[in-house]
Amino acid sequence: MDPGSTVSAVRSQRVLCGEEIRPAVIIIKEGKIHSILPDTEASAHTAGKVMDVGNSLIMPGIVDCHVHVNEPGRTFWEGYWTATQAAAAGGGTTIVDMPLNSIPPTKTLRNFHEKLRAATGQCFVDTAFWGGVIPGNKVLYIQHKLQNTFQLQPFHAEREVQHAAAEKGDPHEYSTFLSSRPNIMEIEAIRTVTQICLQYQVRCHIVHLSSAQPLELIRAARKAGAPLTVETTHHYLNLCPENIPARAT
Ligand SMILES: [Zn+2]
Repeated sequence: MDPGSTVSAVRSQRVLCGEEIRPAVIIIKEGKIHSILPDTEASAHTAGKVMDVGNSLIMPGIVDCHVHVNEPGRTFWEGYWTATQAAAAGGGTTIVDMPLNSIPPTKTLRNFHEKLRAATGQCFVDTAFWGGVIPGNKVLYIQHKLQNTFQLQPFHAEREVQHAAAEKGDPHEYSTFLSSRPNIMEIEAIRTVTQICLQYQVRCHIVHLSSAQPLELIRAARKAGAPLTVETTHHYLNLCPENIPARAT
């Protein structure tokens, strides 16, 4: 909250406290949460204005570190003006923009400044930016720039492999798309990541894992001392490809 705000407490019937949601009053001092009290005890501690938000949920802001805003260059897909309002509407207070969807991609300092200019004055939540690494320079970059630092290198783990091209299938069927990205592409990429991670001891993070098969590789690498983490996304866990109708992805 703005330190200049005159609000000294916020009351809601639904405050997220640890694992449970209950009525509470949040006491604010100097712009920071001082304490969270049951309604009955709060009156003694609230000198100033109390903001009552009724039934609206109060919870910590969500930090989404994997957001594809496509501005500049593909703002018609999604730009900062809409993406950050959508984040705020869903309880997000910080987004971190992925580097490769915009034109130009955030791969150089110059492009980063272009990105900053595009985002300026358009953001409704805190916004940070990932930098992209040019394919081919990745290992060199890791060796020279990241080794012995605490920086994190995320990987979109997908590698071209020789496989029976599925481009002949019906392009309207989701299964045709799926068979164009077989598990082996992710497995082979992750095999490389685990080797790099172990060899250089650089913090590596695999983004949106889509197959369960590489989990064994990841577990083994972690056990061997690789500073490696992995994330997946909710649609990989909750949607079944068999249920996706043709032309309806
Ligand atoms: Zn992504």
